Amino acid sequence: MRAELIDGKKIGQAMRAELRPEIAALRQRGVTPGLAVVLVGEDPASQVYVRMKGRACDDLGMRSETIRLPADAAEAELLAVIERLNADPEIHGILVQLPLPKQINETRVLHRIVPGKDVDGFHPENVGKVAIGDPTGFRPATPYGVQQLLVRSGVPTSGAHAVIVGRSNIVGRPMASLLLHKGKGADATVTVCHSRTRDIGAVTRQADVLIVAMGKPEFVRGDMVKPGAVVIDVGVNRVDDATTEKGYRLVGDVAFEEAAAVAARITPVPGGVGPMTITMLLYNTVQAARQWAD
Ligand code: NAP
Repeated sequence: MRAELIDGKKIGQAMRAELRPEIAALRQRGVTPGLAVVLVGEDPASQVYVRMKGRACDDLGMRSETIRLPADAAEAELLAVIERLNADPEIHGILVQLPLPKQINETRVLHRIVPGKDVDGFHPENVGKVAIGDPTGFRPATPYGVQQLLVRSGVPTSGAHAVIVGRSNIVGRPMASLLLHKGKGADATVTVCHSRTRDIGAVTRQADVLIVAMGKPEFVRGDMVKPGAVVIDVGVNRVDDATTEKGYRLVGDVAFEEAAAVAARITPVPGGVGPMTITMLLYNTVQAARQWAD
């Protein structure tokens, strides 16, 4: 059997198109959804992500602003930028691109963003709202995107056993929250694995829906996947490859060919979860603008 691909690029594009009328309606009310992205330093991958976010906003007629600070910027300088953006009525969403340089305390920075503009959903107020299923909380973009991939691909989650590998605050933990909710794309029985999980293959083999977010290239092998499962690979890892022009290629946390031979459906890397993450960030920014306007 060869698994069917879940195409995040296609689903993401369709979802972005659905946002257009809502953005147009907000603009008619004099509110152009605005996203500010703050980038500290010159990490090449972060620069690419920031450019992609800006372009996605422009494409939908949203406002976007990128604030760049040098790699040696002091924490106080970054906090001052956040305070300015918190007070700016034209900015509805604020995102600080991670990782931050060592001299800056990430938690202090993320907690300074006003919860109503925290479109990454990392502020404890939003984390709490998401945990209790309050729809005014911002769902972190990556797990929100995974959930939308499942919904829009018609993957049944109600009563399904969803196994998540990874318990980070950015992906694994909020993913578990979302799948535990009642309703569409949820109602799953959820198991979360991490680096201390014993016999991880025995757990992943029970998954009807297997979501992997570890940051370990091709860790999940074919024999760790239940035949007929749906596999969502969140991982993005650079591995050396002298045969490519750049000298590297991107792989997920799942050994794609092996897993695709066993699974019913699978996301590719790239082109699976990645495009959904940006799409859901745009959704959160529009939600922020709507909540601000109402
Ligand atoms: P992270 O903060 O490093 O968390 C990794 C998680 O995996 C941790 O919970 C860790 O367990 C677990 N883990 C590591 N090695 C393991 C092992 N051998 N067995 C079982 N569990 C193990 O990473 P993250 O931020 O969640 O990101 C995960 C991956 O997703 C990365 O490749 C990242 O680049 C990618 N990502 C992609 C997107 C996207 O848009 N496509 C967005 C975000 C992240 P412990 O907690 O026990 O250490």
